[in-house]
Amino acid sequence: MSRQVKSVTILGATGSIGKSTLDVIARHPDRYRVFALTAHGNAAALAALCRQFNPRYAVLPTPQLAEMLTADLASAAVQTEVLIGESALETVASHAQTDIVMAAIVGAAGLKPTLAAAHAGKKVLLANKEALVMSGDLFMRAVRENGATLLPIDSEHNAIFQSLPQARSGPLAADGVRKILLTASGGPFRARPIETLHSVTPDEACAHPNWVMGRKISVDSATMMNKGLEVIEAHWLFDAPADDIEVVIHPQSVVHSMVSYSDGSVIAQLGNPDMRTPIAYGLAYPERIDAGVAPLDLAKVATLQFEALDADRFPCVRLAYQAMRRGGTAAATLNAANEVAVEAFLAGKLAFTRIAPLIEDVINAQPVADAASLDIVLAADASARACAHRLLGT
Ligand code: NAD
Ligand code: MG
Repeated sequence: MSRQVKSVTILGATGSIGKSTLDVIARHPDRYRVFALTAHGNAAALAALCRQFNPRYAVLPTPQLAEMLTADLASAAVQTEVLIGESALETVASHAQTDIVMAAIVGAAGLKPTLAAAHAGKKVLLANKEALVMSGDLFMRAVRENGATLLPIDSEHNAIFQSLPQARSGPLAADGVRKILLTASGGPFRARPIETLHSVTPDEACAHPNWVMGRKISVDSATMMNKGLEVIEAHWLFDAPADDIEVVIHPQSVVHSMVSYSDGSVIAQLGNPDMRTPIAYGLAYPERIDAGVAPLDLAKVATLQFEALDADRFPCVRLAYQAMRRGGTAAATLNAANEVAVEAFLAGKLAFTRIAPLIEDVINAQPVADAASLDIVLAADASARACAHRLLGT
């Protein structure tokens, strides 16, 4: 029986996750073809991807960038149609001819197109955790009400998904789940003397010991706000109460996360730290395909360490738990303040150790509303950004 080739849209194709997704797709031309690719700043990188994968559509944010891409593609006789702007992201994410949408835009900018894919009932591969953090309730409702399939690509959530019973019968406790154990490497500053953290540079913060990632998530990993966002992400994905999600430091990033059951069993998913594993899992689910990832050599890994989280060193984790418990728009506010703080840090305008205090000041200054509509969530996001800029004087 011949298999139907699935048509894939990649939002954020030029990024770290986008490129890893295309690497897996290129290994399986009999299973996947690229329907649409989107990028934000780098028209030349998108042109190279269009020449290689020949998508039906490519999306860029401005007419100027689109013109550059169009000229480049014409010279190479590539037929890709170039679309422009935010609404075009939603068009390609919800298009009748796409089956799978990889949501790999970084930050709040990914929310609308990812939500559009859920509303259109697509198979959504979620890397863009910020979208879910901002609008968890709305997003999960859109998935349920439109028959979309949501598969977590974040390595921890992918591991948890693989370690939970495949047929869920209601609340986690009903399936005998005691706790979700979210592993965290601790990033580049797990052991650096705390009194030297004020002077860390963007390049030091982005030098993750185990993973190669975009700069925003790399800084989030260094502050551990990434783990905070992931706690909120797990809360929505798995319908898990805050008290049932625990962060465990595991410096090797080989155990990608675990589920602890009431009978004492702990089920884990292990692998080399390579995002092509969860990406291939999401693309092929429920089948398994080659991801180009080397098999795990346990004798070479030799040691797996685990330790408790140092809450004083990483205050962002506490802020995220607080926002999750608060509910409503609190997590959208946390996320927006973090995005502004990380940008300011990367631009040399904010010390590393001022990131968490800035976020906390924004949270304390902003009201919390019921996150009943996308407009309310986006208004909270905009208001938190404006507040963060005011506090920064930018
Ligand atoms: P990246 O910075 O490498 O790539 C981001 C992509 O988004 C690029 O294609 C860029 O052109 C596009 N983009 C940026 N701003 C945009 C905007 N305003 N509008 C439209 N497109 C925009 O980031 P990444 O490391 O690939 O991460 C992507 C997402 O996946 C993030 O949400 C991150 O948290 C998540 N994630 C990444 C990893 C990883 O290993 N890199 C792991 C887990 C989760
Ligand atoms: Mg992760």
